[in-house]
Amino acid sequence: MSGVLPQLQPQFATLKESPTLRINQTAKRLREEGQDIVHLGFGESPFPVPELLVEALKENAHHKSYLPGLGLPELREAVAGFFRKEFGYEAHTDRVVVGPGSKELIYNLLHLLQGPVLVPIPSWVSYGPQAHLLNKPFHGIPTQRSLGYRLQAEELDAFCQSLGSGQKLLILNNPSNPTGSIHRAEELAALAEVCRRHQVLVISDEIYALVNYSGRPFVGLSTFYPEGTFVTSGLSKAFSAGGWRLGVVLVPEAMQPLMSPWNALISETFSCVSSPIQYASVIAFRDFEQIRAYVQQCTDLHQQACEGMHQTFLDLGLNCPPPEGGFYLYPDFQPFREQLQEKDIHTSQQLCETLLTAAGIALLPGEAFYMDGQHLGVRVAAVDYDGTQALQAQHPTIAKIKSLNEFLKLG
Ligand code: PMP
Ligand code: GLU
Repeated sequence: MSGVLPQLQPQFATLKESPTLRINQTAKRLREEGQDIVHLGFGESPFPVPELLVEALKENAHHKSYLPGLGLPELREAVAGFFRKEFGYEAHTDRVVVGPGSKELIYNLLHLLQGPVLVPIPSWVSYGPQAHLLNKPFHGIPTQRSLGYRLQAEELDAFCQSLGSGQKLLILNNPSNPTGSIHRAEELAALAEVCRRHQVLVISDEIYALVNYSGRPFVGLSTFYPEGTFVTSGLSKAFSAGGWRLGVVLVPEAMQPLMSPWNALISETFSCVSSPIQYASVIAFRDFEQIRAYVQQCTDLHQQACEGMHQTFLDLGLNCPPPEGGFYLYPDFQPFREQLQEKDIHTSQQLCETLLTAAGIALLPGEAFYMDGQHLGVRVAAVDYDGTQALQAQHPTIAKIKSLNEFLKLG
């Protein structure tokens, strides 16, 4: 079959494998080749899936039939009940959508809804490429390090004014990957006003909402802007089941007309999420009280790991907002700009490449999170420890990161 080349759709000319998944494969391969790698590149929970869920999956393995596209009715009911009780949202069974991960569901929403996509920067790596795949304009709104890179109402307001009228889609990830920040209730209330004024629909990506160690109860945008907020979540983070691929969306009441086209989209694409996974997942949301203590124990360990790293970064002289939730930190090497330039490192991409080859530390560059590369920010996923051991000992091994110290003293 020589001489025949596939003709790709133009969007794929520049599309690359997601940086998160790529660094995970690279770090694993280097380890298999015998290198000593500190893998801070990929954000996956290090803890086992709660035993109750593992048992439920075994018991439900026999389910073999296709399920309704929007999800197993018992699961949709359990999800709506969970979000009403846990966060006080106006969730309703008929407006829950179940999908193979919240990543796919966010992509579905961008597919279904008109308008340009807005994100605060830094923001998670996949939103931009998803918008690109769908030929949607994508805009990053700069935020301030001193405010933990949390989007402020004035920043959104000014940006929306520059765009003019028409529906806009804001993706707000709270708690944030990459910064670990959690929005304050007052900030969300002010953002809600701006969204109303400028016809902004919001995808509130709350996949880390249960991994909250800020000391404040988690409050989501939906509390202040219920009519325009889609909440996305799933099993990947707090329930440590990323590979189960189960995500959910709460659709606001005012967006009910979306349910029928969404059902049609699902029916023509992935049909439904794996039935045993859906049956087992009912337990996670319906019987959360039986899992709560375990989720809290894992969250305490995430807190120890993230706060330990944070202190280490400050000791090293890096800038880094304090983490409050999730698994991540976003330090920057601005104070070392000159020393790094002497090593011919000018961008966060070059910094990460050198840290991997010279120090064996896998990180992701701020550029992947839409930041200017010159800013020298990096995303750290503080999950490189054995979760099972940590649960037993209640003490993750964060000391490994101290090898950064050695790197900075090089030359
Ligand atoms: N949003 C953020 C911010 C994430 O870090 C992830 C990573 N898994 C996702 C969404 C997607 O999660 P999933 O598809 O596993 O539900
Ligand atoms: N969310 C994780 C991260 O940011 C990885 C999983 C993914 O990207 O789908 O590292």
